[in-house]
Amino acid sequence: MARALTMTGVHKSDKIQNSYGYGLFTGGMGVHYGGQKIGATVIPISAGNTMRQLEIMQDFETTVLTCTPSYGLYLAEVAENEGIDTGKLKLKAGCFGAEMWTEEMRQELEKRLNISAQNIYGLTEIIGPGVAMECSIKKGLHIFEDHFYPEIIDPQTMKQVSDGENGELVLTTLTREGMPVIRFRTRDITALNRDICECGRTQVKMDRITGRSDDMLKIRGVIVFPSQIEKALLKIDGLEPQYQIIVTRPHHLDEIEVMVETSPALFSDEVKHVEEIKKNIEIKIHNEIGLRVNISLVEPKSLPRSEGKAVRVIDKRNL
Ligand SMILES: [Zn+2]
Repeated sequence: MARALTMTGVHKSDKIQNSYGYGLFTGGMGVHYGGQKIGATVIPISAGNTMRQLEIMQDFETTVLTCTPSYGLYLAEVAENEGIDTGKLKLKAGCFGAEMWTEEMRQELEKRLNISAQNIYGLTEIIGPGVAMECSIKKGLHIFEDHFYPEIIDPQTMKQVSDGENGELVLTTLTREGMPVIRFRTRDITALNRDICECGRTQVKMDRITGRSDDMLKIRGVIVFPSQIEKALLKIDGLEPQYQIIVTRPHHLDEIEVMVETSPALFSDEVKHVEEIKKNIEIKIHNEIGLRVNISLVEPKSLPRSEGKAVRVIDKRNL
């Protein structure tokens, strides 16, 4: 974990606001020990209590934020509402993980928090945070191959696939004592890339996780990942990247409803304009997944916020 943090530029003079949950979730303690190893100051604030997070961020002059990307975005949103100028915060980097997120979400976090947002990957069964980390080039995550041996398989046939091809990541621990793990199926969908990175590191890179083999939705036979919907939504100005996907099967045919939050400006707008936005979202999602979906625009800040992993899909089908 210490090595992962140094890849976001963490130095012993940094103050890490660790907003991952402490307790049995490995995110909190993992970042905590990693930060301490570097000699940085770790603020063990854990998840939640957003106003207090923002006060501490200002008072302690936090330089690095660690949390889930959806919570990072929520912190930015509350800061904006409270009139806190995020440009004046001392934040320089964010280490975001523990859930799937997109390139568009990165841009949003970087812009709104005025930071470099980098992706971290890990899982409790293997080590917690720090299996792989993005370098400053931000084109994939370097896997710490001296500790973990990665393979990508086709989740249906269980056969290995070639580099560059998408499949399920399987990990074997090489140095873990006590409970070594051999060929653990992570259920996370990614691809490996062995080209030498512009940063000079030679460790294999994995793409950002695009889905989970068990959270992959099959809608009318088409494979859909929530991240594809997020990607489409973030292409539209005036929308908050807050959404929920509801899958139903009313007449033996799958239906998707995507509830999307509008911005306050958009919400007070004319009905005609709102209809245009809905149409635009429908088209963008259709282009991304090849299916028609129903769009419901909901009031700003009406969808549930999460302090940990965001709940993006509600599948009401009896499958
Ligand atoms: Zn690199």
